[in-house]
Amino acid sequence: MIITMKKTAPQAEADKIVKNLEAKGLSVTLIRGTDYNVFGVVGDTTGVDEKIIAANPYVDNVQRVAAPYKRANRLFHEADTVVDVSGVKVGGRERIVVIGGPCSVEGREPLLEIAREVKAAGGSMLRGGAYKPRTSPYNFQGLGSEGIAYLREAREATGLPIVSELMSIDKIDEFEENVDLVQIGARNMQNFDLLKAVGKMHRPVLLKRGLANTIEEWIMAAEYIMDGGNENVIFCERGIRTFEKYTRNTLDLSVVPIIKQRSHLPIIIDPSHATGNWQLVESMSLAAIAAGADGLIIEVHNDPEHAWSDGAQSLKPANFRSVIEKGRKIAQVIGRDL
Ligand code: PEP
Ligand code: MN
Repeated sequence: MIITMKKTAPQAEADKIVKNLEAKGLSVTLIRGTDYNVFGVVGDTTGVDEKIIAANPYVDNVQRVAAPYKRANRLFHEADTVVDVSGVKVGGRERIVVIGGPCSVEGREPLLEIAREVKAAGGSMLRGGAYKPRTSPYNFQGLGSEGIAYLREAREATGLPIVSELMSIDKIDEFEENVDLVQIGARNMQNFDLLKAVGKMHRPVLLKRGLANTIEEWIMAAEYIMDGGNENVIFCERGIRTFEKYTRNTLDLSVVPIIKQRSHLPIIIDPSHATGNWQLVESMSLAAIAAGADGLIIEVHNDPEHAWSDGAQSLKPANFRSVIEKGRKIAQVIGRDL
């Protein structure tokens, strides 16, 4: 961390800052300039709030050199983390995973049917929302526990691990017991109490990027979960909000190599929520694989026109199969399996 202080700063002000940093176990070196004094701070600065230092009227600038995250940081954990989701491995050089399933669980039979299609196509996990974060309170809110029970049945029928979104702390036990991969949705990416609670779970977590969050904020959200003791976090890019109207969100594929540089955790792409349009899902899926993503999560529905949520972005099973078939070829080119 580099702190730039005005030359006019009284010695007592500079001493105060240095003392506070040294009390945190950091060492501070002073470089005297003509107009400014510059303090170089060395050590683990993750616990330092630079905004508090910047509040000093004599401080001109505070600049972080090290990233504010530690556990998620590639710097301290060189090897790729491979997250084990009930036997399905995600990350490293493992097979690229493709998760498929409906936006919402709509009933026992419809879910079983889609689950069988996902399995037959070569999908490696089944997704399905039982608790749904809907923009309108008048829209379908999910089947709740009934939906979780159908997901369990579908897992039994197909052997596919199940992924579902956890929205509230009071459902933690239900998810701990029943769900293989716990999804934290975009809207809850910075629900810090929820992140802390999930950090105490023994289930891996799929952490979606918030609608308007920076990569650093997203990694810090993973840091919350990991700090609680749960190191099994998978990032999921699902598009961010921009001025563009032709797509529901803007898929930021550059996050794949950036996350890979910065973190050892796996990252998968959700081309369904990113585009909002089933016709764009295949090309974005192939691009995601080419970019080095560890997997995809795709909405699949037998009858998208009558889906209870997100029909416009849901693939029919035949198209889902096509994504996997073409994806396999792209994976081969970059030396991975799918
Ligand atoms: C979902 O996966 O159905 C969902 C609501 O995703 P997101 O949180 O990315 O909008
Ligand atoms: Mn959806």
